[in-house]
Amino acid sequence: MQALSFGLYVHVPFCPNACDYCHFFHDKPSVPKVQAFLKRITEEREQWRSVWEARPFETMYWGGGSPSCLAPETLRTLGALCPVSAHLKEWTVEVSPTSLTPEKLQIFKELGVNRLSLGVQSFQAETLRRLGRKQAVSHVYKAYEAIRAAGFQNVNLDLIFPPDFVSLNAWQNDLETALQLQPEHLSTYCLTYEKATGPFTPQAHQAVDEDREADFYQFTWEFLEHHGYRHYEVSNFARPGFECRHHVNTWRMQEWLGWGPSAASQFQRKRFQNPCDWTSPIGSWVHEETFTEKDLCNDCLIFGLRMREGVDLTALQQRFPTVDLSVYQPLWQRFANAGWIVWENNCVRCTPQGMLLADSLALELL
Ligand code: SF4
Repeated sequence: MQALSFGLYVHVPFCPNACDYCHFFHDKPSVPKVQAFLKRITEEREQWRSVWEARPFETMYWGGGSPSCLAPETLRTLGALCPVSAHLKEWTVEVSPTSLTPEKLQIFKELGVNRLSLGVQSFQAETLRRLGRKQAVSHVYKAYEAIRAAGFQNVNLDLIFPPDFVSLNAWQNDLETALQLQPEHLSTYCLTYEKATGPFTPQAHQAVDEDREADFYQFTWEFLEHHGYRHYEVSNFARPGFECRHHVNTWRMQEWLGWGPSAASQFQRKRFQNPCDWTSPIGSWVHEETFTEKDLCNDCLIFGLRMREGVDLTALQQRFPTVDLSVYQPLWQRFANAGWIVWENNCVRCTPQGMLLADSLALELL
C-alpha cells in the first residue's frame, strides 16, 4: 500500500479584532494567553514526538486566527517548536494585511516558510465594512508589496463573495484587482452564515437566493480559468504547480495532526479535535471518532468529487480492498445521465453543473 502523506496544522487562535462573520476559535492576544498557547504547542510536540520523529511532516500549515499578529519573538519560538525536516515540502502561514511587517516576513523566510496566504476578502471598503473586517484596502496593497519584496514566490489571496449584499459587477472588480497582483493561488469563498449572533446567523441566510449564489460560483470559475488559473477544487484556483499540497492531502484523506486549541487531526483511522478553550489538558479531545475503511472511502469520494481531477476508482479500490465499490455504480450512472459527473476510464469527476451540486451529491453518497 502506498504510504500516506503526513501534515501538521497549527491553529494560532489570536486576532486583535473579530470579523463579524468569523466562526473560528480565536481570542485577543495577551501575554498569559500567548504563553498558554506556546505551552500547549510544546506539550503537543512532546506528546507526538515518537510519531513525527519516525514520520516527518511533508506539509505544515499555520492557520487561525491570524498567525501574523503574534510578536516577532513569539513567531520565532513557535517556529522552533514545529518539527521541520528535509521532508517538509510546503509550509504555509496565513497572514493578515494589518499585522504583517517586513520583520515578521524576514522571520518567516528564516524559518523556511515558503507559502503565504493573505486574508484580503475584498478590495472594496464598503464590503470590508459590511463584513466587519477591520482593515483598509491600502493595507492589502502594502502587505502584498512587502511579501513580494521579501522574496515569497508562492502567495495565495483569500477572497470572500457575499451574494446578498455585493453585485456580480463588484465581485468581478474584486477578481480583476486580485489578478493585477498576479498571485500564484486564489481561494474564493462564498460567505457562510454560521454565527450564533450578529448579522451572519443561519436565519439571516434564508433570504439569500441560491440561484444568485450559483451565478457567482459559475462566473468565478469561468473568469479565473479564462485568466490562466486552474480550478482544482470548488473554491480554489492555482497557476500550474501551485496547488496547495496541504489542502490537497487533506481532501485526499491522507493523515495530519492538528495542534493548538480547536485544531482537528486525522490519524490511524481516528478523527479527533482539540477543545475550543485554553484550559483542557492535552489529550482530551472532542468529536473523537474511529472510522472504518468504508467511512474513509466515502469521504475520499465526497471530497474527491469537489476536486477537478475527481476520483480514480481503480486506485481507490486498491487503497480500500475490503470496500465493495460496485454498489456505487447505479449512482454514477444516474449522476452521469443527469450531466453532473463524467464517468470514464473508471474515474468519476464532476462537471461544472455537478460541482454546483457538490453538497447534494455528497448527501446521496452517504
Ligand atoms: S482575521 Fe480570520 S480568524 Fe480572525 S476574526 Fe477575522 S476571519 Fe476570524
